[in-house]
Amino acid sequence: MENDNLTLIKQNVTAIQQSLPSDVLLVAAAKTRLPEEVQAAINAGIKVIGYNYVQEAEQMHPFIDEAVKWHMIGHLQKNKVKKAIGLFDMIETIDSVELALEVNKKCASTGKVMPVLIEVNSGKESNKTGVLPEDVSQLIMKIHDLPHLRIQGLMTMGPRFGNPEDARPYFRATKSVFDRIKNAGIPHVEMRFLSMGMSNSYKIAVEEGANIVRIGTVLFGTRCL
Ligand SMILES: *Cc1c(COP(=O)(O)O)cnc(C)c1O
Repeated sequence: MENDNLTLIKQNVTAIQQSLPSDVLLVAAAKTRLPEEVQAAINAGIKVIGYNYVQEAEQMHPFIDEAVKWHMIGHLQKNKVKKAIGLFDMIETIDSVELALEVNKKCASTGKVMPVLIEVNSGKESNKTGVLPEDVSQLIMKIHDLPHLRIQGLMTMGPRFGNPEDARPYFRATKSVFDRIKNAGIPHVEMRFLSMGMSNSYKIAVEEGANIVRIGTVLFGTRCL
């Protein structure tokens, strides 16, 4: 039974990888998954795992000894930054000057330079994290020369719809912010990564220019927690 599940995960990774263009990075959104499930995904070729919580990533770290990269994909609280910078290779969810300053400060004390993405609230939902599309450049202008941050692109969740096609305008709007900032040529800002799309929407996100997709359900199966 258990082995069947791990075999399925490997098959899912292979199938998703094959359906993606070669320049699109597949991040396994690993929340709530067991160490052996995450390991099965890594064995099948996953190079990056994403966690929403610092504590969950911390608990998983001792079990994963492979050379995988760790991305923070959930909202990062300021009081968790010190731990987060020791665990993660990229923070995809910078959404305020205060958070950026804290990451810069804590990285300065360990000599690290943290690659980050700016999280965009593309659906403009008041209960969501992320900066509004029209405020992204302003945020970047305030933090782009922090020496221990390296801004490398944007991330968005987009609203969750039953019909993934409904997410397309939000992905398109995020891509347009991405292009605008890229073309502005802001010093120290390398607009390389556009992280958008989840299990139900990643194909549409890739059509709209995503080169990172974050996938949980269709990779690991339905979450029971
Ligand atoms: C859970 C999660 C995903 C993946 O969601 P699925 O629908 O399970 O593929 C992607 N991004 C973030 C930020 C998540 O929390």
